[in-house]
Amino acid sequence: MTSKPNALDASAAQADAAERPLSILVFGAHPDDCDLRFGGAAMLYRRLGHNVRFVSMTNGDTGHFSMGGGPLARRRYAEAQASAAIADIRYDVLDIHNGELEPNVATRKLVIQIMREVKADLVLCHRPYDYHPDHRAVGVLVQDAAYTVTVPNVAPLSEPLLRPPVVGYLFDGFLDPTPYVATVAIDTDEVMERKIDMVHCHASQMYEWLPYNGGVLDEVPESDAERRAMTARNMWTRFGHTADAARETLVRCYGAERGAQVKTAETIMISQYGRGLREEDWPRYFPFFPPPRRSA
Ligand SMILES: [Zn+2]
Repeated sequence: MTSKPNALDASAAQADAAERPLSILVFGAHPDDCDLRFGGAAMLYRRLGHNVRFVSMTNGDTGHFSMGGGPLARRRYAEAQASAAIADIRYDVLDIHNGELEPNVATRKLVIQIMREVKADLVLCHRPYDYHPDHRAVGVLVQDAAYTVTVPNVAPLSEPLLRPPVVGYLFDGFLDPTPYVATVAIDTDEVMERKIDMVHCHASQMYEWLPYNGGVLDEVPESDAERRAMTARNMWTRFGHTADAARETLVRCYGAERGAQVKTAETIMISQYGRGLREEDWPRYFPFFPPPRRSA
């Protein structure tokens, strides 16, 4: 099989995107989850002319040790907007308290309305198996909305989608009750430095809360340049592990030569509870891979 995309493929993909842009909706629990797990792929889609929207289902207002409430929520909102500007995407942050996201009917309707508003083709979220209750709730909410988004009398004042979107899960390393298996793996090497810039925007998390929570706050450097360098090291390592975990999928998506060389990746595990991904959907949904693309 061919292992390298050529210029014709790229221009054909751009022409297709101009005619029929995909609507990609990424639901994270907190205002940094989407960036970490799909920031690179979001930029690759945007470059081709597709639409990407990130939604943080909570406002992140408990994610700190010395700040909280409104000031923290507003700080994290600003961080998310700075990150979104780098990727040229819209980033919505819902005003639901961090740690209090519940997979109830009212919130499901919110998710349905967002899916309908953007006419989502591809919806990504956490799995319902995850360490954080908000992450788990996002997985359940999206799963519960994936079919009901097509039912006119569910939230009857918004226009239903005619068919369920393709639903996929963002990468995680959890094994219980079932391990994550990447269906799709996207090479993020060429946008990795820009993704690091996105993650660097989340200063309240990267340089304050997460190091505090991990007991390494005293290891965080003072200067902006040193902090970014620390994030860069961490990101290349972390998403290098993601690439290694998904190596077989990378080889299947890009061919043996490039698949073996990819250093960093973002992945999607297609959910059984969305529309499913047909073989013929691959070129449109994942315009990064050289033909022939193989799903399994
Ligand atoms: Zn989170």
